[in-house]
Amino acid sequence: MTTIIDGNAVASEIRDDLEGAIETLADHGVTPGLATVLVGDDPASQTYVNMKQRDCEEVGINGIHVDIAGDASPEELYDTIEDLNADSDVHGYLVQDPVPEQIDYREVLRRIDPHKDVDGFHPENVGRLVAGNAQFKPCTPHGIQKLFAAYDIETEGADVTIVGRSDIVGKPMANLLMQKSADGNATVTVCHSRTEDLAAKTRGADIVIAACGVTELIDGSMISEGATVIDVGISRVEDDSEKGYELVGDVEFESAKAKAAAITPVPGGVGPMTRAMLLYNTVKAASEYEDVPVEL
Ligand code: NDP
Repeated sequence: MTTIIDGNAVASEIRDDLEGAIETLADHGVTPGLATVLVGDDPASQTYVNMKQRDCEEVGINGIHVDIAGDASPEELYDTIEDLNADSDVHGYLVQDPVPEQIDYREVLRRIDPHKDVDGFHPENVGRLVAGNAQFKPCTPHGIQKLFAAYDIETEGADVTIVGRSDIVGKPMANLLMQKSADGNATVTVCHSRTEDLAAKTRGADIVIAACGVTELIDGSMISEGATVIDVGISRVEDDSEKGYELVGDVEFESAKAKAAAITPVPGGVGPMTRAMLLYNTVKAASEYEDVPVEL
Protein backbone atom coordinates (compact mmCIF):
# COMPACT_ATOMS: atom_id res chain seq x y z
CA MET A 1 0.00 0.00 0.00
CA THR A 2 1.36 3.38 -0.95
CA THR A 3 1.02 6.11 1.66
CA ILE A 4 -0.55 9.26 0.27
CA ILE A 5 1.11 12.05 2.21
CA ASP A 6 -1.63 14.37 3.40
CA GLY A 7 -0.22 17.90 3.38
CA ASN A 8 -3.55 19.39 4.40
CA ALA A 9 -3.63 17.32 7.59
CA VAL A 10 -0.01 18.06 8.58
CA ALA A 11 -0.43 21.76 7.75
CA SER A 12 -3.55 21.85 9.88
CA GLU A 13 -1.63 20.42 12.88
CA ILE A 14 1.08 23.03 12.41
CA ARG A 15 -1.53 25.77 12.27
CA ASP A 16 -3.15 24.46 15.46
CA ASP A 17 0.22 24.60 17.22
CA LEU A 18 0.75 28.13 15.92
CA GLU A 19 -2.56 29.23 17.37
CA GLY A 20 -1.19 28.28 20.80
CA ALA A 21 1.91 30.40 20.18
CA ILE A 22 -0.25 33.27 18.91
CA GLU A 23 -2.27 33.12 22.15
CA THR A 24 0.95 33.34 24.17
CA LEU A 25 1.96 36.40 22.16
CA ALA A 26 -1.52 37.89 22.70
CA ASP A 27 -1.07 37.45 26.47
CA HIS A 28 1.88 39.84 26.07
CA GLY A 29 -0.13 42.29 23.96
CA VAL A 30 1.48 41.19 20.70
CA THR A 31 -0.34 40.36 17.46
CA PRO A 32 2.02 38.99 14.79
CA GLY A 33 1.82 41.03 11.59
CA LEU A 34 2.51 39.79 8.06
CA ALA A 35 2.52 42.14 5.07
CA THR A 36 2.32 41.08 1.45
CA VAL A 37 3.37 43.39 -1.37
CA LEU A 38 2.10 42.81 -4.89
CA VAL A 39 3.52 44.81 -7.77
CA GLY A 40 1.18 44.66 -10.77
CA ASP A 41 -1.85 42.44 -11.24
CA ASP A 42 -0.60 39.02 -12.30
CA PRO A 43 -3.63 36.76 -11.63
CA ALA A 44 -1.65 33.82 -10.20
CA SER A 45 0.26 36.18 -7.87
CA GLN A 46 -3.03 37.77 -6.82
CA THR A 47 -4.38 34.33 -5.94
CA TYR A 48 -1.25 33.56 -3.90
CA VAL A 49 -1.36 36.79 -1.87
CA ASN A 50 -5.11 36.40 -1.31
CA MET A 51 -4.50 32.92 0.08
CA LYS A 52 -1.72 34.21 2.34
CA GLN A 53 -3.99 36.96 3.66
CA ARG A 54 -6.82 34.49 4.25
CA ASP A 55 -4.44 32.16 6.12
CA CYS A 56 -3.40 35.07 8.36
CA GLU A 57 -6.98 35.90 9.20
CA GLU A 58 -7.77 32.28 10.04
CA VAL A 59 -4.98 31.89 12.61
CA GLY A 60 -5.08 35.38 14.14
CA ILE A 61 -2.14 37.02 12.37
CA ASN A 62 -2.64 40.65 11.40
CA GLY A 63 -2.51 40.57 7.58
CA ILE A 64 -1.61 43.78 5.76
CA HIS A 65 -1.61 44.02 1.99
CA VAL A 66 0.06 46.65 -0.18
CA ASP A 67 -0.77 46.92 -3.90
CA ILE A 68 1.69 48.74 -6.12
CA ALA A 69 0.99 49.64 -9.76
CA GLY A 70 2.66 47.41 -12.34
CA ASP A 71 4.41 50.41 -13.91
CA ALA A 72 5.77 51.72 -10.59
CA SER A 73 9.41 52.77 -10.46
CA PRO A 74 11.85 50.74 -8.38
CA GLU A 75 12.09 53.73 -6.00
CA GLU A 76 8.37 53.57 -5.26
CA LEU A 77 8.75 49.96 -4.21
CA TYR A 78 11.89 50.76 -2.20
CA ASP A 79 9.91 53.44 -0.30
CA THR A 80 7.32 50.82 0.62
CA ILE A 81 10.08 48.46 1.73
CA GLU A 82 11.58 51.18 3.95
CA ASP A 83 8.16 51.82 5.49
CA LEU A 84 7.65 48.12 6.19
CA ASN A 85 11.15 47.80 7.66
CA ALA A 86 10.30 50.66 10.05
CA ASP A 87 6.74 49.55 10.90
CA SER A 88 6.75 47.89 14.32
CA ASP A 89 3.36 46.25 13.65
CA VAL A 90 4.87 44.35 10.72
CA HIS A 91 6.99 41.45 11.96
CA GLY A 92 7.43 39.84 8.58
CA TYR A 93 6.71 40.64 4.97
CA LEU A 94 7.36 39.53 1.44
CA VAL A 95 7.33 41.01 -2.03
CA GLN A 96 5.52 38.55 -4.25
CA ASP A 97 7.68 37.26 -7.10
CA PRO A 98 7.65 37.73 -10.09
CA VAL A 99 8.00 41.50 -10.16
CA PRO A 100 7.71 43.56 -13.38
CA GLU A 101 10.86 43.74 -15.46
CA GLN A 102 11.82 47.32 -14.48
CA ILE A 103 12.39 46.02 -10.95
CA ASP A 104 15.42 43.95 -9.96
CA TYR A 105 14.14 41.30 -7.56
CA ARG A 106 17.61 40.69 -6.10
CA GLU A 107 17.88 44.37 -5.18
CA VAL A 108 14.42 44.14 -3.60
CA LEU A 109 15.55 41.20 -1.47
CA ARG A 110 18.69 43.03 -0.37
CA ARG A 111 16.59 45.92 0.97
CA ILE A 112 14.28 43.79 3.13
CA ASP A 113 15.23 43.78 6.83
CA PRO A 114 16.64 40.22 7.25
CA HIS A 115 14.76 39.95 10.56
CA LYS A 116 11.47 40.46 8.69
CA ASP A 117 12.41 38.30 5.71
CA VAL A 118 9.91 35.51 6.38
CA ASP A 119 10.49 33.99 2.93
CA GLY A 120 14.15 33.51 3.91
CA PHE A 121 15.45 34.87 0.60
CA HIS A 122 17.62 37.80 1.82
CA PRO A 123 21.32 37.06 1.08
CA GLU A 124 22.12 37.11 4.81
CA ASN A 125 19.45 34.49 5.46
CA VAL A 126 20.60 32.39 2.50
CA GLY A 127 24.12 32.50 3.94
CA ARG A 128 22.91 31.51 7.38
CA LEU A 129 20.97 28.59 5.93
CA VAL A 130 24.02 27.33 4.05
CA ALA A 131 26.07 27.66 7.24
CA GLY A 132 23.56 25.51 9.11
CA ASN A 133 22.28 28.38 11.23
CA ALA A 134 19.08 29.44 9.46
CA GLN A 135 17.07 32.34 10.85
CA PHE A 136 14.13 31.59 8.55
CA LYS A 137 14.06 28.40 6.52
CA PRO A 138 12.38 29.00 3.13
CA CYS A 139 8.78 27.84 3.40
CA THR A 140 8.60 25.08 0.78
CA PRO A 141 11.75 23.13 1.78
CA HIS A 142 10.92 23.63 5.46
CA GLY A 143 7.41 22.31 4.83
CA ILE A 144 8.85 19.25 3.11
CA GLN A 145 11.07 18.60 6.14
CA LYS A 146 7.95 18.77 8.32
CA LEU A 147 6.26 16.19 6.05
CA PHE A 148 9.25 13.87 6.45
CA ALA A 149 9.03 14.25 10.22
CA ALA A 150 5.26 13.68 10.29
CA TYR A 151 5.54 10.47 8.25
CA ASP A 152 8.78 9.17 9.84
CA ILE A 153 10.61 9.35 6.54
CA GLU A 154 14.31 9.09 7.39
CA THR A 155 16.64 11.41 5.51
CA GLU A 156 19.76 10.28 7.35
CA GLY A 157 21.84 8.23 4.94
CA ALA A 158 19.16 8.48 2.23
CA ASP A 159 20.02 9.19 -1.39
CA VAL A 160 17.87 12.17 -2.36
CA THR A 161 17.49 13.44 -5.91
CA ILE A 162 16.08 16.94 -6.33
CA VAL A 163 14.88 17.93 -9.79
CA GLY A 164 15.25 21.71 -9.97
CA ARG A 165 17.86 24.16 -8.67
CA SER A 166 15.83 27.32 -8.06
CA ASP A 167 16.73 29.73 -5.27
CA ILE A 168 13.37 29.18 -3.59
CA VAL A 169 13.04 25.39 -3.70
CA GLY A 170 15.85 23.28 -5.17
CA LYS A 171 18.91 25.01 -3.69
CA PRO A 172 17.60 25.53 -0.14
CA MET A 173 16.15 22.01 -0.13
CA ALA A 174 19.53 20.58 -1.09
CA ASN A 175 21.26 22.66 1.58
CA LEU A 176 18.87 21.64 4.32
CA LEU A 177 19.04 17.96 3.48
CA MET A 178 22.83 17.83 3.41
CA GLN A 179 23.23 19.59 6.76
CA LYS A 180 24.79 17.62 9.56
CA SER A 181 21.53 17.44 11.49
CA ALA A 182 18.80 15.00 12.47
CA ASP A 183 16.52 16.28 9.68
CA GLY A 184 19.38 16.31 7.17
CA ASN A 185 22.31 13.90 6.81
CA ALA A 186 21.19 12.90 3.31
CA THR A 187 23.33 12.43 0.23
CA VAL A 188 21.91 14.88 -2.27
CA THR A 189 21.94 15.01 -6.07
CA VAL A 190 20.59 18.19 -7.66
CA CYS A 191 19.35 17.97 -11.26
CA HIS A 192 18.40 20.71 -13.71
CA SER A 193 17.66 21.26 -17.37
CA ARG A 194 21.22 20.37 -18.42
CA THR A 195 21.36 17.12 -16.45
CA GLU A 196 22.21 14.08 -18.55
CA ASP A 197 20.13 10.96 -18.01
CA LEU A 198 17.74 12.36 -15.45
CA ALA A 199 15.98 9.00 -15.12
CA ALA A 200 19.16 7.34 -13.85
CA LYS A 201 19.45 9.99 -11.14
CA THR A 202 15.84 9.68 -10.00
CA ARG A 203 15.86 5.87 -10.21
CA GLY A 204 18.88 5.74 -7.94
CA ALA A 205 17.15 7.75 -5.21
CA ASP A 206 15.39 6.76 -2.01
CA ILE A 207 13.64 10.13 -2.10
CA VAL A 208 12.77 12.11 -5.24
CA ILE A 209 11.79 15.76 -4.91
CA ALA A 210 10.37 17.12 -8.15
CA ALA A 211 10.50 20.92 -8.38
CA CYS A 212 10.97 21.79 -12.04
CA GLY A 213 7.60 23.14 -13.16
CA VAL A 214 7.41 20.68 -16.07
CA THR A 215 4.08 18.89 -15.86
CA GLU A 216 4.33 15.16 -15.22
CA LEU A 217 8.02 15.01 -16.16
CA ILE A 218 8.67 12.26 -13.61
CA ASP A 219 6.75 9.04 -14.21
CA GLY A 220 6.74 5.64 -12.57
CA SER A 221 9.53 4.32 -14.80
CA MET A 222 11.84 6.93 -13.23
CA ILE A 223 11.08 5.89 -9.64
CA SER A 224 12.59 2.96 -7.79
CA GLU A 225 10.35 0.52 -5.93
CA GLY A 226 9.65 1.80 -2.41
CA ALA A 227 10.90 5.36 -2.94
CA THR A 228 9.34 8.48 -1.42
CA VAL A 229 8.12 10.96 -4.03
CA ILE A 230 7.58 14.63 -3.19
CA ASP A 231 5.89 16.66 -5.92
CA VAL A 232 6.45 20.39 -5.51
CA GLY A 233 5.29 21.34 -9.00
CA ILE A 234 2.10 23.28 -9.52
CA SER A 235 1.18 24.17 -13.08
CA ARG A 236 -2.17 25.43 -14.28
CA VAL A 237 -3.34 23.35 -17.22
CA GLU A 238 -6.40 24.68 -19.03
CA ASP A 239 -9.46 22.45 -19.12
CA ASP A 240 -13.25 22.65 -19.56
CA SER A 241 -14.02 22.94 -15.84
CA GLU A 242 -15.75 25.94 -14.31
CA LYS A 243 -12.38 27.29 -13.09
CA GLY A 244 -10.96 26.84 -16.58
CA TYR A 245 -7.85 25.00 -15.40
CA GLU A 246 -6.62 22.17 -13.23
CA LEU A 247 -3.49 22.06 -11.09
CA VAL A 248 -0.95 19.52 -12.28
CA GLY A 249 2.30 18.51 -10.61
CA ASP A 250 5.72 17.55 -11.95
CA VAL A 251 5.01 13.86 -11.27
CA GLU A 252 2.68 11.55 -13.16
CA PHE A 253 0.80 10.55 -10.05
CA GLU A 254 -0.71 7.17 -10.90
CA SER A 255 2.38 5.53 -12.40
CA ALA A 256 4.64 6.95 -9.67
CA LYS A 257 2.22 5.86 -6.96
CA ALA A 258 2.37 2.31 -8.26
CA LYS A 259 6.10 2.22 -7.45
CA ALA A 260 6.41 4.56 -4.47
CA ALA A 261 6.10 3.74 -0.78
CA ALA A 262 4.87 7.29 -0.13
CA ILE A 263 3.88 10.15 -2.43
CA THR A 264 2.43 13.66 -2.19
CA PRO A 265 -0.61 14.53 -4.30
CA VAL A 266 -1.13 17.80 -6.19
CA PRO A 267 -3.03 19.63 -4.86
CA GLY A 268 -3.01 18.77 -1.15
CA GLY A 269 0.64 17.81 -0.71
CA VAL A 270 3.40 20.39 -0.53
CA GLY A 271 1.23 23.47 -1.26
CA PRO A 272 -0.54 23.66 2.13
CA MET A 273 2.80 23.11 3.88
CA THR A 274 4.37 26.09 2.14
CA ARG A 275 1.48 28.24 3.33
CA ALA A 276 1.68 26.93 6.90
CA MET A 277 5.43 27.55 7.12
CA LEU A 278 4.97 31.20 6.12
CA LEU A 279 2.69 31.58 9.14
CA TYR A 280 5.28 29.73 11.23
CA ASN A 281 8.06 32.11 10.14
CA THR A 282 5.84 35.11 10.89
CA VAL A 283 5.13 33.89 14.42
CA LYS A 284 8.85 33.18 14.89
CA ALA A 285 9.69 36.71 13.68
CA ALA A 286 7.14 38.25 16.06
CA SER A 287 8.36 36.17 18.99
CA GLU A 288 11.98 37.20 18.40
CA TYR A 289 11.28 40.87 17.65
CA GLU A 290 9.04 41.27 20.70
CA ASP A 291 11.25 39.06 22.87
CA VAL A 292 8.35 36.83 23.88
CA PRO A 293 9.45 33.19 23.82
CA VAL A 294 6.89 30.79 22.30
CA GLU A 295 6.99 27.08 21.63
CA LEU A 296 7.46 26.39 17.93
P1 NDP B 1 11.98 27.56 -11.48
O1 NDP B 1 11.34 27.74 -12.80
O2 NDP B 1 12.61 28.72 -10.80
O3 NDP B 1 13.10 26.43 -11.59
C1 NDP B 1 12.84 25.24 -12.27
C2 NDP B 1 14.06 24.35 -12.17
O4 NDP B 1 13.75 23.12 -12.84
C3 NDP B 1 15.30 24.92 -12.82
O5 NDP B 1 16.42 24.65 -12.04
C4 NDP B 1 15.37 24.20 -14.15
O6 NDP B 1 16.68 24.00 -14.64
C5 NDP B 1 14.77 22.85 -13.78
N1 NDP B 1 14.21 22.18 -14.95
C6 NDP B 1 13.39 22.70 -15.88
N2 NDP B 1 13.10 21.77 -16.82
C7 NDP B 1 13.77 20.65 -16.47
C8 NDP B 1 13.90 19.38 -17.05
N3 NDP B 1 13.28 19.06 -18.18
N4 NDP B 1 14.66 18.46 -16.43
C9 NDP B 1 15.30 18.77 -15.27
N5 NDP B 1 15.22 19.97 -14.68
C10 NDP B 1 14.48 20.91 -15.28
O7 NDP B 1 10.89 26.87 -10.58
P2 NDP B 1 10.52 26.92 -9.00
O8 NDP B 1 11.53 26.20 -8.20
O9 NDP B 1 10.16 28.29 -8.64
O10 NDP B 1 9.18 26.07 -9.05
C11 NDP B 1 9.16 24.75 -9.53
C12 NDP B 1 7.72 24.27 -9.53
O11 NDP B 1 7.26 24.23 -8.19
C13 NDP B 1 6.74 25.17 -10.27
O12 NDP B 1 5.71 24.36 -10.80
C14 NDP B 1 6.16 26.05 -9.17
O13 NDP B 1 4.87 26.52 -9.48
C15 NDP B 1 6.11 25.05 -8.04
N6 NDP B 1 6.16 25.63 -6.71
C16 NDP B 1 5.31 25.09 -5.80
C17 NDP B 1 5.34 25.47 -4.51
C18 NDP B 1 4.46 24.79 -3.54
O14 NDP B 1 4.23 25.30 -2.47
N7 NDP B 1 3.95 23.61 -3.86
C19 NDP B 1 6.23 26.56 -4.05
C20 NDP B 1 7.14 27.02 -5.07
C21 NDP B 1 7.09 26.57 -6.36
P3 NDP B 1 17.64 25.24 -15.06
O15 NDP B 1 18.13 25.81 -13.76
O16 NDP B 1 18.72 24.58 -15.83
O17 NDP B 1 16.80 26.19 -15.83
